[in-house]
Amino acid sequence: MSYVFPPEPVVSVPVLGREQRFPVHRIYCVGRNYAAHAREMGFSGREPPFFFIKPADALVVAEGPRPTVVPYPSLTTDLHHEIECVVAIGQGGRDIPAAEAARHVFGYAVGVDLTRRDLQASMKQQGKPWCIGKAFDHSAPIGPITEASLAGDIGRASIWLQVNGSDRQRSDLGQLIWNVGEIIEHLSRAWELKAGDLIYTGTPEGVGSLARGDLVTGGVDGLQGISLKMA
Ligand code: MN
Repeated sequence: MSYVFPPEPVVSVPVLGREQRFPVHRIYCVGRNYAAHAREMGFSGREPPFFFIKPADALVVAEGPRPTVVPYPSLTTDLHHEIECVVAIGQGGRDIPAAEAARHVFGYAVGVDLTRRDLQASMKQQGKPWCIGKAFDHSAPIGPITEASLAGDIGRASIWLQVNGSDRQRSDLGQLIWNVGEIIEHLSRAWELKAGDLIYTGTPEGVGSLARGDLVTGGVDGLQGISLKMA
């Protein structure tokens, strides 16, 4: 096989304790999956799950321990942080029942769903797609993946994000409206999941603005945390 120009490299995420990396296929994201966040965005918290996609090359791999530089994006004056637990799919499938979802999970990572909130709000108001608010370059920082067998039970793990050392978001995965199994069940009805898919599972309340120079740290109990410097 030859190409008319060299293809972009495969996007990949390190796996803790392994030399082999996790090759990324797609990035799915769940919207409004914590009731308190749904309410802060003006919704009831009782809506069925919905999904959007970011391109795989929107990932910014934050291996730490030193902060990873993330460029402040263009076109926005209201860049928001959303700390999320990310599910890494190791075995694909269609119509996966929630009760069988665990065998499709390779592992978990800490991610931040960066959002150009002003652009998202404007597109929402006009009834237009959100892509420009969500799926921009460098919009998906992620830490290394911990394999599911080593992550323990993350069902009630705490999840948190600090900006310059001050708490902005703090909750636990027990507050997810749709848990990981249910997300996989719903998603795999709409798309065929493939090994290499990542799922950002939604953010708890406390989303807010970031400025250039901010130090963003976040974590989920049992997983390696993330540290970002906004440039
Ligand atoms: Mn999100």
